[in-house]
Amino acid sequence: MSDAMLPASKPASAAVYKAGGVDLLDLMKEYLLQPARVVSVLNLPKMSSITESKDGVSLGALVTLAQLEADQTLRQRYVALAEAVAHAATPQLRNAATLGGNILQRPRCWYFRNEHFQCLKKGGTKCFANEPGAENKYHGIIGNQTCSAVHGSSVSTALVAYGAQVELQGPQGVRRVPLESFFVRPEQDVRRETSILPGELITEVLLPKPAAGTGAWYIKFGERESYDWATADVAVVLEQEGRRCHRASIVLGAAAPLPLRVPAAEAVLVGKPVTEETARAAALAAVADATPLEQNAYKVSVFQAIVRRAILKAAGLS
Ligand SMILES: Cc1cc2nc3c(=O)[nH]c(=O)nc-3n(C[C@H](O)[C@H](O)[C@H](O)COP(=O)(O)OP(=O)(O)OC[C@H]3O[C@@H](n4cnc5c(N)ncnc54)[C@H](O)[C@@H]3O)c2cc1C
Repeated sequence: MSDAMLPASKPASAAVYKAGGVDLLDLMKEYLLQPARVVSVLNLPKMSSITESKDGVSLGALVTLAQLEADQTLRQRYVALAEAVAHAATPQLRNAATLGGNILQRPRCWYFRNEHFQCLKKGGTKCFANEPGAENKYHGIIGNQTCSAVHGSSVSTALVAYGAQVELQGPQGVRRVPLESFFVRPEQDVRRETSILPGELITEVLLPKPAAGTGAWYIKFGERESYDWATADVAVVLEQEGRRCHRASIVLGAAAPLPLRVPAAEAVLVGKPVTEETARAAALAAVADATPLEQNAYKVSVFQAIVRRAILKAAGLS
């Protein structure tokens, strides 16, 4: 029997939360999860609203992607997030999918999703996507040595760029974590994508108020306009004084096992005016560490193109 045909582990968890159920029901149908109980959290109070305060905006974890898409405050002040949400999945899915569930969705790597492949995420000994001859067209190009599955949340690409925090409530109390550090790299723990603790609920996501002079943009590249995850996406948030950029946040989605900030690209812009030339140099720096797999070298040039375009758009130059 080949490694690929070993029976997959099917963790029998005691109980799981269900929000919109989009990913949870897929995981159950794929025999990756067999919970004894499914607890719907959809009717929990105070988690379904979008609230503005002097410090920013609080997004309840049960707010749907459709609610986020329709919100005019987000469209005006957090345009990269509004764009990311508007391009996620399909209108029907956005009506059901919640923000908390979106952040916690599991990767769509077909080796992980197929119960017959006992990959590292399921306690196996290898990443099948990294094997010679593997189907890895949609996999990661950066930080992909251990496991090359990418995170599916394009919404998180934008949230990380805005410096969002998640608030969690669980048996050990309430805690707030920057979303950027909530995600876990495969080298830390390949079996999970976030540091959520057993029994914890994401209650809200907090977006800081953007500084004056902030410009932002988001671009999703995919094989289809709808009903699909990103092949490559990017969110850019720039703070500018006049023409000079004094803070940049550039986050790549579908490039790595987590939404990935690229400090080397940000450093190219900081302290300089954004121009076609600096945008191009930052886009090159964004993928300088890429280690593409057999089938996904095309992603390097896709990221170069969309990072450059998103920087210019965020700076108001296109
Ligand atoms: C065809 C298709 C295309 C898609 N395209 C995109 C895309 O382009 N971009 C994108 O970002 N996403 C995309 N998605 C993913 C989709 O947006 C997510 O699956 C959805 O947002 C999950 O939300 P949910 O409320 O249904 O979560 P559920 O399926 O209910 O839950 C997902 C997980 O989160 C846990 N959970 C849910 N809410 C909480 C909470 N508040 N606290 C703690 N645990 C919780 C559940 O226990 C479960 O483990 C796509 C999905 C499909 C099917």
